[in-house]
Amino acid sequence: MPTTPKSYAQLCRQANAGAVKQAPRVSRSKRGYDRRWYKYSKLYLARNPTCVRCFHWGDRDNPLVVDHIVPLSQGGTNYDPSNSQTLCRRCNSVKARTEDHRGVPSLQG
Ligand SMILES: [Zn+2]
Repeated sequence: MPTTPKSYAQLCRQANAGAVKQAPRVSRSKRGYDRRWYKYSKLYLARNPTCVRCFHWGDRDNPLVVDHIVPLSQGGTNYDPSNSQTLCRRCNSVKARTEDHRGVPSLQG
C-alpha cells in the first residue's frame, strides 16, 4: 500500500521519538573540578607554563589548562602532579576527542 510522503517536520518528530536521550551532565564540582582544583591548577600552571605538546605559552584565545594524563573517569588521580600536564585548550580538545576512542599517551615524563 503506497504511503504519502512525510513532511520534514513529521520526519524530525519521528526521528526524535526514537532518539536516545542523553543523561544529564554532572556539574563541574561533582566531576572533581572544585575550588581546590582551581587552586591546584593555578599553582601547577605557574610552575609549568607551556603546553607539553605544542610549547604554546597560552594566551586569551588559547589559554593553558591542566590536563589529567589518565582521565578521572578512567581511574586517574586528582591533585597529583604525576597525573597532570599542561596543555593549551586546542591540544586538550584534540586529546579529549581521541581519548573517547583509543586514549593518547602523554608526551610528558
Ligand atoms: Zn598545545
